[in-house]
Amino acid sequence: MSVATLGIQGHCAHCQCTLLLKPWQLNAIAINEPFTCSHCQKSLQLNDPKQIKRFKSLDSLAMLKASLLVMVCTALMVALVLEWMALLSVVEQLNVSLVAIFVYFIALRFARQRQHMTLILEAAKSYAD
Ligand SMILES: [Zn+2]
Repeated sequence: MSVATLGIQGHCAHCQCTLLLKPWQLNAIAINEPFTCSHCQKSLQLNDPKQIKRFKSLDSLAMLKASLLVMVCTALMVALVLEWMALLSVVEQLNVSLVAIFVYFIALRFARQRQHMTLILEAAKSYAD
């Protein structure tokens, strides 16, 4: 599981607890497997298609963050090289770098807001019945 899924909460249908989901629980959700609540040890599952979609979109969010980082690094490198080649002044190079870093943090903030969620978990269907 990627870092993007850290900090996701789950609401347990059995004990009405809201708990921070652990990586193994997020893994289970990702592969649509039931897992136990870490508070009451009863079986849970994410069944709501809307929430599953939202959960899955976190992966693309992580991808977006990764590619954004590459883009910002490239912009910084290009600005530095242009400065070395005397095509850019030191002040211009600093400006370009600052704008790139600024854009990166704005996007990161937006991504962090998007990944703040509480999943409403339902009781898993028992296969023993
Ligand atoms: Zn529970």
